[in-house]
Amino acid sequence: MDERMQEFLDRTKAAAATMGTAAQAAACYAGKKTGEALGAAKLNMKALELERECKGLLRDIGEKVYESLQTGEDHSDFLEERMEELEKRYAQIEHLREQAAALRDVKVCPACEKHCGLQDRYCKHCGAVL
Ligand SMILES: [Zn+2]
Repeated sequence: MDERMQEFLDRTKAAAATMGTAAQAAACYAGKKTGEALGAAKLNMKALELERECKGLLRDIGEKVYESLQTGEDHSDFLEERMEELEKRYAQIEHLREQAAALRDVKVCPACEKHCGLQDRYCKHCGAVL
């Protein structure tokens, strides 16, 4: 093959590789941004799901207590186990709500990805337009 032709092909390949990387980075960034936007909503959804589970656990506990009172049977192991599950979920819900609130109160800089205030027009870390 002609030497110049080879050089041209090499340069084209290198350019294509760079473009590919840039396109990949852009796609990755777009995906990340979408993920962040969904973040707070997803956290709240998860919290709601856990709340539903809590209601189920409370119902189980209520039924067992009722049964215990009626039959005189001891279901304290069952109740303790359910209450532990409840406590675990309450803690998770609180954590999820805190995370969701934190995400709502910040704007993420598109350039440096650091957190800025909702009212900020420029990133206080790198100066990029928000
Ligand atoms: Zn920034």
